[in-house]
Amino acid sequence: MRKPYIAANWKMNMTNQETERFINAFLPMVKGITSVDILIAPSFVSLGTASRLLESSNVILGAQDVYFEESGAYTGEISPTMLLSARCSCVIIGHSERRQYFSETDEIVNKKIKNARKNNLEVILCIGESLEEREANRTFEVLDGQLSGSLKDLSLEGMTIAYEPIWAIGTGKTASKEQANEAHAYIREWLRKNKEGADSIRIQYGGSVKPENIVDLMSQPDVDGALVGGASLKPDSFAGIVTGAAQK
Ligand code: PEP
Repeated sequence: MRKPYIAANWKMNMTNQETERFINAFLPMVKGITSVDILIAPSFVSLGTASRLLESSNVILGAQDVYFEESGAYTGEISPTMLLSARCSCVIIGHSERRQYFSETDEIVNKKIKNARKNNLEVILCIGESLEEREANRTFEVLDGQLSGSLKDLSLEGMTIAYEPIWAIGTGKTASKEQANEAHAYIREWLRKNKEGADSIRIQYGGSVKPENIVDLMSQPDVDGALVGGASLKPDSFAGIVTGAAQK
C-alpha cells in the first residue's frame, strides 16, 4: 500500500508575507491528517519563512530545484547543503518548465538527482510528454527516454516520480483518469523492468489537479498522489486536494 503524496509547487509565486499568510491559514485545515504525505515547495526566498512555520507540523518542506555542484562560483545557484540548512528534505527536479525555459536535459537532471541523493535529499522527478508528442503517439517513447536518461546509474531509493503531461500543466486541461493511469502503469512497468522497488515507489500525477478532480484521479490504481501548481496557491483549494486524496 503506497501512502498518498500531495505536493505543492508554488513556482515563481508568493512573497515571504504571502507564504506566512498561506501557511497560517493552511495548517489548521490539514491538522491531524496523517494518512497523506503533504509537501510545499515555495521559492528559495521563502524557504526560511516556510521552514520556521512548518516546524513540527505534518507538512514537509521542499525546494523547486537544486544545482549539481556542491559549492563554488555558480552565481544564482543553490546547493543541497543550503537546502538542508533550511530544513528542506525534498527537491523537485526536471520540471517541464525548467526543461523548456532553462534548457535542462535528461543528463543535467540526472546530475542534479545524483547530487541531491548523495546529500540525502528526497527527489520528485518530473517527466511527461508535450501535446505534439502525444498526438504523434510518441508518449511512451518520450517517457522511456526521460526515465532512462534521468535515472541513469541511480536506484529508486528516496525517489518519487511525477508524471506531468505538458499539455495539462496550467492549461485547465486534465488528463482523464484513464489517460493518467495508462501512463502511470507504463512508468511502473518500465521501473519493474529496469530497477528494484518499482511497486513501492509513488507516482504522482500533475496537470491542472484541483479539489474537483482529485478523487477521480486517485481512484486509479497507479495514481499515488499529485504535484499541484495553480490550485496549490490558495489554502482552501490545496487543503481540498489533500482531503480528497485522504479518501483513497
Ligand atoms: C505543475 O507545474 O507541476 C503543475 C502541475 O501545474 P498546474 O497544477 O497548474 O497544472
